[in-house]
Amino acid sequence: MYALDSVAMKILKFSTLIIGISFISGISWALIAPDSSPETTPIAPNITTTTISLPAPIDNALAQHAAKSPMTPQQPSLNARHYTVTRGENLSSIFSKLNYSSKDLHHIIHANPIGSQFAAISPGKTLTFKSTSDGTLVELHYPKKPTQTIVAKRINEAFHVEAINAVVNREISYIHTSIQTSLFIDAKKAGLSDKLIMELAQIFAWDIDFALNLRKGDQFSLLFEKLHINGVAIGSGNILTAEFINKGQKYQAVRYEDNNGAASYYQPNGKSLKKAFLRTPIDFARVSSHFNLKRKHPVLNRIRAHKGVDYAARTGTRIKSTGRGKIIHRGRKGGYGRTIIVQHGQKYTTLYAHLSKYQRNQKVGSRVNQGDTIGYVGKSGLATGPHLHYEFRINGVHRNPLTVKLPSSNPINKSNMADFKSQTTPLLAQLHHVKNSSFAENTF
Ligand SMILES: [Zn+2]
Repeated sequence: MYALDSVAMKILKFSTLIIGISFISGISWALIAPDSSPETTPIAPNITTTTISLPAPIDNALAQHAAKSPMTPQQPSLNARHYTVTRGENLSSIFSKLNYSSKDLHHIIHANPIGSQFAAISPGKTLTFKSTSDGTLVELHYPKKPTQTIVAKRINEAFHVEAINAVVNREISYIHTSIQTSLFIDAKKAGLSDKLIMELAQIFAWDIDFALNLRKGDQFSLLFEKLHINGVAIGSGNILTAEFINKGQKYQAVRYEDNNGAASYYQPNGKSLKKAFLRTPIDFARVSSHFNLKRKHPVLNRIRAHKGVDYAARTGTRIKSTGRGKIIHRGRKGGYGRTIIVQHGQKYTTLYAHLSKYQRNQKVGSRVNQGDTIGYVGKSGLATGPHLHYEFRINGVHRNPLTVKLPSSNPINKSNMADFKSQTTPLLAQLHHVKNSSFAENTF
């Protein structure tokens, strides 16, 4: 255990630096054993979880808030009554059931925009009514989400309503595993939530084709946050850093949040992991015809260059704009049928043909983001069956969409580089450290 403890302490020091918690109490370290966590089913000894820090829970937060609040001082003896909302009930029926005044209800709901959230209480939530000995309602608490409680407090005849956010405790956890079956199955076995598996796949989506190119023995390790309020797990937070080894090639990602609060994933050198374009405009589609300048056309039955890629997909499958840009054509275009062309900056255009229909609320001139739906697969124009014909042009010249070198999204701004390094270096060091330590331990 000595080695483990010293490792744990180093991790804790790193983590304290990273998450900047001003105090830490109840520090604990857990090497997850097979039966110690319902959400983790270790299949190999290469799964480790670290656990750090415990700031103030929601009740403390509420108490502190109340202490600072300039509202009516707390009356000394309030009766608290808890009521769990059942299906079909609303606040009005509950007020009359519990004999509270409908005038108070009106004041609460119309106090301000937050007050109207009381009109949409959901079944299963437990309301807390605090009243004086003569039955006058003084406070009403509605735990809307694990992270937020809506509180109404009486001020004379009226009520003041506000949303109080809980202090969320973020633990940093570590997972390392190797692919035996699929990303989803193996990551799930390692204890990663569905949400984080999707995020992990998204982070590396520009570099790794998770559907087609994973190999048995590929590995990944990551540091991510587990969220708790008052010691109760409420789900996972962000992936902080991740490493994926695919077919012997290592990919690294680290999360960086700029001072405007915008977060994205970068390579350790500050280059974006995102490309300016997605490789393919539809999910899970088969390439039915490649880019080929000497192809015999299936309908015209003569040699005619195929200057794009065809994806066989069902009619109605959504088509995404592969990059951010502006729609410059939307309409019929000869053999292409219903066609959209998107202009991306000065150099690039992408074209999507044979659509069955267009996305609603867009027109020529509309701005679209990468991944936005622009239309749906069909077989309009010269097509033997439903498919998407996709073209990629640089300065007007057709390029093979499957092999063209895609430009990266913007790297870290020069002025943010120092901040980027200071945020991300400890994370990368921590991942590296925990990974090496857990390998060393596993050799016993
Ligand atoms: Zn085609």
